[in-house]
Amino acid sequence: MSKRELSLEVKDTTVPIQAEYIWIDGTSPTPLLRSKTKVIPDFAGSIADMPMDEWGFDGSSTEQASGDASDCILRPVFQCPDPIRGGKNVLVMCDVLLAKDASPHPSNTRATLAAVAAKHADQEMWYGIEQEYTMLRLDGSPYGFPVGGFPKPQGPYYCGVGAGRVVGREIIEEHTQACIDAGLLISGTNAEVMPGQWEFQIGPGDALTVSDHMHVARWLLHRIAEDYDVVISFDAKPMKGDWNGAGAHTNFSTKAMREGYPAIIEACEKLGTRVLEHVENYGDDIQSRLTGKHETAPWNKYSYGVSNRGASVRIPWQVARDQKGYAEDRRPNANVDPYTVTRLILETVCG
Ligand code: ADP
Ligand code: MN
Ligand code: MN
Ligand code: MN
Repeated sequence: MSKRELSLEVKDTTVPIQAEYIWIDGTSPTPLLRSKTKVIPDFAGSIADMPMDEWGFDGSSTEQASGDASDCILRPVFQCPDPIRGGKNVLVMCDVLLAKDASPHPSNTRATLAAVAAKHADQEMWYGIEQEYTMLRLDGSPYGFPVGGFPKPQGPYYCGVGAGRVVGREIIEEHTQACIDAGLLISGTNAEVMPGQWEFQIGPGDALTVSDHMHVARWLLHRIAEDYDVVISFDAKPMKGDWNGAGAHTNFSTKAMREGYPAIIEACEKLGTRVLEHVENYGDDIQSRLTGKHETAPWNKYSYGVSNRGASVRIPWQVARDQKGYAEDRRPNANVDPYTVTRLILETVCG
């Protein structure tokens, strides 16, 4: 083969692609997702061959640095096909490091989780997180509410079908397929109790996997809803009054829990020993949501029980029947940081 033919061949098999670098910013009390695009001019092969190159950004624009020392480092931790751009384009989930010594940024809750997960790896903890959210119009009013008014009270909307009962399904359909195409561990979706409120679930998988996948799934949801001028809110209680809040029920099981009931009871009891530590880190505005009404337990009163959706922690009925399985911590808010909720459960249940 001549030199010229060889270079033509190389040219044919490499393509420019777009890598969307996604990270979590320093906004308080609830961080936002950010992302920017890196064009890789000569990408060849499959996603597994993609170099996980570090990159940087201006932390002074994301509440992560001051202007005089603004550089932060993006370190890729998970990548998957980009279902929106298609082709060989990729999404790259990153955590944030300080430029001065490449140590984790204070906002980097993933690094803290990684250490705890490694410590308790022998217990093989799995998670499944149910992400609820609310669709809003650009003016902040709920997408499921008539302009300037209120819909009929809650009742027909949960898992509903039909106009007047369900809104936003086009977004759910697109988002679910996007998660599947990206290879995320999405396990289902449903319309929720308040109109315009929906849920998707990620799991089961280990703490880092489920949390990384959750952040990419949240990013995809924001990105897809953008095209419909719909705002995705993870607020815990977007509508005051007789409307359900939005949570992120966190299902969990150690290997011992998957094998026998005593370990499930033990885990539920242990969660009762660090109640405030958990609730204070389960997302902003938790007191507005965990009132004791609307399928919640009061935020400052811990309880657990079989099938009880008014308890802090629920043991599903089939788990009681089979005498093995998992438990559901119903307290985390929709706006919880998955790296933090999975870490706290690891520490309390496995510690
Ligand atoms: P709910 O009945 O509370 O609405 P969902 O079906 O919405 O429950 O969500 C249950 C979640 O629990 C799913 O994400 C599923 O993957 C996860 N799950 C199932 N089995 C286990 C297990 N053994 N350990 C951890 N998570 C699990
Ligand atoms: Mn659910
Ligand atoms: Mn739900
Ligand atoms: Mn649930």
